[in-house]
Amino acid sequence: MSLNLIFCKENSSAVVFGELICEKLKASSIEAVCNKTAIDLAGKMRCNFSAFNGNRLELDKHVLKSLAEKEDFNEFITYITNPRRQTEAFIEAEVKKYIFTSHTDEAVSMLQKNVDDIKTSVCKALFTATQKVQTQEGDTDMWLKEFSIVLKDELTFDAMCSENFNDINDFEFLKEEIKKGFSSITEEMSSLSLDKLKESRLKPDKILTDQLCKCCWVKCPFCAAVCTNTIEDHSPDDHSALFHQPRAVAGGTWKDTNDFSINFCTTNVASEISFYNYESAKSFPYKKYRDAGPRYKTWRITPDESKLAYWKWFVFKFQKQLEEHYKAKFHRKGEIPSDWGKVSKSDVVNYYIKKTD
Ligand SMILES: [Zn+2]
Ligand SMILES: [Zn+2]
Repeated sequence: MSLNLIFCKENSSAVVFGELICEKLKASSIEAVCNKTAIDLAGKMRCNFSAFNGNRLELDKHVLKSLAEKEDFNEFITYITNPRRQTEAFIEAEVKKYIFTSHTDEAVSMLQKNVDDIKTSVCKALFTATQKVQTQEGDTDMWLKEFSIVLKDELTFDAMCSENFNDINDFEFLKEEIKKGFSSITEEMSSLSLDKLKESRLKPDKILTDQLCKCCWVKCPFCAAVCTNTIEDHSPDDHSALFHQPRAVAGGTWKDTNDFSINFCTTNVASEISFYNYESAKSFPYKKYRDAGPRYKTWRITPDESKLAYWKWFVFKFQKQLEEHYKAKFHRKGEIPSDWGKVSKSDVVNYYIKKTD
């Protein structure tokens, strides 16, 4: 074989091998850039976005605030029956707004930065692998191993076989081939749409949901207020909620009537009133609610005369829908006090945690 022919064969091997590497790099780079951008975006929102940078209670307040703003009764019912699901929907919607409406430029430059970072890493890996093979007189196998090792923290670079490419000697040429190929890949990636994030394995809303919703979701057996403990399983500590709701919010009625109960749990537990537990078919004084069964026993409800204005507004505003939904009435013992109608929407949206007597 003439020298010229050997050179051609070697180089065509390097061209093919380079193309194979670039093909693999393309798929794994897009994945890595999207995953990294999802993590970065979630981290950014966790720091700068008021609903996500505080404690659990803060997030709950933002969920309630957004429910009041939207005035969608069905979403309220989701919140009451499955607060976690409504909270997840809130996180998902806010992340979408952040990325695609309010902070698009920031998201695009994050994506761009991650493309640049990948480019730097690939160049570094090319340089390191080529240098090692040259100084140690290694072969393609050694080159590939070294290249994969340098990149392993950045990319998942699937194992590939270098067996058919052992005739490659000019690794400088191989390096330049891959550099050239990868450069057109990163150029393509620079115009990657943010929509690509939706296909990524890691998604910013999912990351935030995993972080923010890993807490207790047990509901008050009377009013369905959700426990605000930040630990998922916090037994033997009691469940507790900072604010309880009028029992009607969860469909509570007086025994043997269709009269809604509009009392707050925190008032009831200080009163002489009893409640009927349908599960055990027995009445219990509210003062001894813990005796009514396991669901009651694990709750700490502290007597408190203050009532959250938010729920007064909600009950007043949605009384018709609540009546239809629970097939009960705000009449007789369940008549809504007229001053509940004085709480305005802007009161609850702007001062949604304000308590009134
Ligand atoms: Zn309650
Ligand atoms: Zn709890």
